[in-house]
Amino acid sequence: MLNIRIEKTQNPKPIPGEDNPLKFGTIFTDHMFIMNYETGKGWHDPRIVEYQPIVLEPSAMVFHYGQEMFEGLKAYRTDEGNVLLFRPDKNAERAMNTNRRICIPEIPAEDFVQAVKELVAVDNAWIPTRPGTSLYIRPFIIATDPFLGVRPSDTYQFIVICSPVGAYYPEGLNPVKIWIEDDYVRAVKGGIGEAKTGGNYVASLAAQVKAHDEGYSQVLWLDGVERKYIEEVGAMNIFFKINGTVVTPKLNGSILPGVTRNSVIELCKHWGLPVEERKVSVDELVEAAKTGALEECWGSGTAAVISPVGHLRFEDNVMQIKDGGIGEVSQKLYDTITGIQLGKVKDEFGWTVQVK
Ligand SMILES: *Cc1c(COP(=O)(O)O)cnc(C)c1O
Repeated sequence: MLNIRIEKTQNPKPIPGEDNPLKFGTIFTDHMFIMNYETGKGWHDPRIVEYQPIVLEPSAMVFHYGQEMFEGLKAYRTDEGNVLLFRPDKNAERAMNTNRRICIPEIPAEDFVQAVKELVAVDNAWIPTRPGTSLYIRPFIIATDPFLGVRPSDTYQFIVICSPVGAYYPEGLNPVKIWIEDDYVRAVKGGIGEAKTGGNYVASLAAQVKAHDEGYSQVLWLDGVERKYIEEVGAMNIFFKINGTVVTPKLNGSILPGVTRNSVIELCKHWGLPVEERKVSVDELVEAAKTGALEECWGSGTAAVISPVGHLRFEDNVMQIKDGGIGEVSQKLYDTITGIQLGKVKDEFGWTVQVK
């Protein structure tokens, strides 16, 4: 249990009005959580203070060798005015795994969740109310030793910031076009693909730029060794419905274990749909698209929740799914998960956590 000192700002900012589109990740709330770490002293001085710039030495290790981790989750306001988090314990658990992988000192799961809850409670007025909106929460840790050598840092900052975000699909679910990348790779087994860390994102930029230039919104990655098996979309996990079975790549060490991915699998099983976590080759997909066996495709992640995929391209193969429309399972998953998040659908799994 952390003893968090709360120092409220004397200069609160205007809270965005109902008509503000709340473009993802551009507006930040009044406060942030911050806690320091020092070898020998451990994590200390947890506090909630005004959202403000942080001062670091140019030699701070995070700038040079990328020792940093992050998480992403959302808080939702229900019609009754309650505030709900969606499976924050899963984010805390994943944060511990990321920390272990990149040699950042661990934060107990309950402390991680407490920091998030207390910050959300302080900035509670910033949680937007319009349908589809939420408060995006970004916890992260950076290595701060002023040192240009390569080793784990002895000092860190754990920071949590919050950003009100608009509906990902303001006009309702909208299928995306995805580019299957056969040249660049994102991660390999044994590397950091299963850790939520900035390095995976910088590795993905060149392919993302290439895909955008070709008119595609996101990149679907293949495995880094054989470049044959589907991995994930870089900020989303990927699902296919092939001949009535829900199929998703099995976690293999280079795929990020999404909280939404896990929720999708549990829901589909609960509905009695056959679910397979296994290797899926790109050849199998191309073939399934040709024969019509590829019935649906969607991505899963905190930002969009469920993102229907209407169009996949691999080299010269263009795969149109559901004639570019939305599949029934994609729509049902979206409605159910967002319904649970907003307290409108019965939470049979105990996934939501009330803030205060
Ligand atoms: C965060 C993330 C996801 C999605 O995870 P969720 O917990 O569902 O938000 C998928 N892939 C990568 C690489 C990620 O960083």
